[in-house]
Amino acid sequence: MGSEEMDKLVHQEDNILEVSHLKKYFPVKGGFFGGVTGEVKAVDDVSFQIKRGTTMGLVGESGCGKSTTGRTILRLIEKTSGTVLFNGEDVNQADKKKLRALRTKMQIIFQDPYSSLSPRLPVGEIIGEAVRQHNLVPKEQYNDYITQVMLNCGLQEYHKDRYPHEFSGGQRQRICIARALALKPEFIVCDEPVSALDVSIQAQIINLLKELQEKLNLTYLFISHDLSVVEHISDTIGVMYLGGLVETGNTEDIFSNPLHPYTKALFSAIPMPDPDMKINRTILEGDIPSPANPPKGCKFHTRCRDCMAVCKETAPEARDVGNGHVVRCHLYDAG
Ligand code: SF4
Repeated sequence: MGSEEMDKLVHQEDNILEVSHLKKYFPVKGGFFGGVTGEVKAVDDVSFQIKRGTTMGLVGESGCGKSTTGRTILRLIEKTSGTVLFNGEDVNQADKKKLRALRTKMQIIFQDPYSSLSPRLPVGEIIGEAVRQHNLVPKEQYNDYITQVMLNCGLQEYHKDRYPHEFSGGQRQRICIARALALKPEFIVCDEPVSALDVSIQAQIINLLKELQEKLNLTYLFISHDLSVVEHISDTIGVMYLGGLVETGNTEDIFSNPLHPYTKALFSAIPMPDPDMKINRTILEGDIPSPANPPKGCKFHTRCRDCMAVCKETAPEARDVGNGHVVRCHLYDAG
């Protein structure tokens, strides 16, 4: 076996997903002839890896490009440039047939379970439709298989004949999870999966996702604007601002020692259980600049308290401060 093949094997063993310099720019149309007048840089040079069987949390304010990153990885929208390797294979090079097979391995769960479920189909059909289309289980095992998937997700067999409107929000999200799991995925993009649910139900769904991960060795990209939710499920965290990652690292490192001024501001906004507890809140001033016209230099400089002259001119490089904790900020430039 050549060293290249060995590298590939090691890589496949370790990282299920490798995203390199991913960009997604949307054209802005306008003017008299409706031509392209600019572009919205929704995802702008994003790179990260996720190890098999782990969860990476992707956090940031709404509009920072988290969801577009998830969808571009799955090729639900086409990238502008960059590469996405899934199990060592370039997702964007996959032809129709291969993409069809990949789609079962890479699934997505959306924020609003109701609008992502067909109101006209009974739940058993919703969960099983794609299983039949992909011939994932032999005909004679199909019914038992769907029942087992439903039980794994905390649903009952008699729910098969009911319709989505007969379920609560939490149960509907269980149906969405069951529909994704029925396809035997290895990787799931969870796009704000609990944001629309009550706090008590949120915990149940998070616990279900964790149980399923352990049982099935699943890998998640967990997208959320809520840091306290992300802390409970993530092994690693990526903080996004205006289309780019500003800080990444292990959850413990990021929570105990946030470095980037934007990450610090996000952390200081987490509600405290004790209302009398005094913390130094950093209030983020100003609006998020338009991704169609991002600021020069560090994209955060228009809202950063620590802004220096260099920040307005030069974009900071990614710097590993140890243990894979990477930050993009001139405060950590080598002296
Ligand atoms: Fe603030 Fe400068 Fe760091 Fe950007 S590079 S976050 S402006 S200190």
